[in-house]
Amino acid sequence: MRAVHKESHLIERIGWLRAAVLGANDGLISTSSLIVGVAAATAASQEILVAGVAGLVAGAMSMAAGEYVSVSSQADTEQADMARERHELATQPEAELAELTAIYEQRGVSPDLARQVAEQMMVKDAFEAHARDELGLSSQVMARPVQAALTSAVTFATGAALPLAVALLAPSGTVVWAVSVACLIGLAVLGAIGARAGGAGIWKPTVRVVFWGAVAMASTAAIGALVGRAV
Ligand SMILES: [Zn+2]
Repeated sequence: MRAVHKESHLIERIGWLRAAVLGANDGLISTSSLIVGVAAATAASQEILVAGVAGLVAGAMSMAAGEYVSVSSQADTEQADMARERHELATQPEAELAELTAIYEQRGVSPDLARQVAEQMMVKDAFEAHARDELGLSSQVMARPVQAALTSAVTFATGAALPLAVALLAPSGTVVWAVSVACLIGLAVLGAIGARAGGAGIWKPTVRVVFWGAVAMASTAAIGALVGRAV
């Protein structure tokens, strides 16, 4: 029992950590690219910082809004499924018992025992048994829109804070390089954390994320420099 309990906690933590790493990754790479692009076009440190702050706020808002909408529609589906299940349990308990029995049979339990298990579970909490074993819903995996939105906004802002702080502290004229290097180091650290959490090898995913981060930074720096020259 103890081992099962521990394992489920590990799975929860990995899901949470992966989402946090992804959010921070987004904030880091998009704000760094934005700052590098603007810094390549202009040396004015005020403009660079305004762009960085705007990027942080806009990115955090759009992440939160996107996450809220997508998780809300998932929550709506879950609510509708649960309402239908409640209605069916109230109106046709016999059919529901047969349904749950069939589910346990499919999982390899013999027909008689499956019927017994279904009966006993439905005596204890029929709705919970159906929500979990038929719909695959439990309090741990239920969609939580507000929590998801807040998490995305906070993790994005955390990732975005690094290049912003570096841009604030770097002497003018060195912002492009300082932010690029800080971003790549940050991406490498996040990549390693994400790979560890996922139980994968560290090097391949880390090298991949750093490589694409460098590509993003180089392209926005190039475009920023071109636009800066043209304007
Ligand atoms: Zn059911």
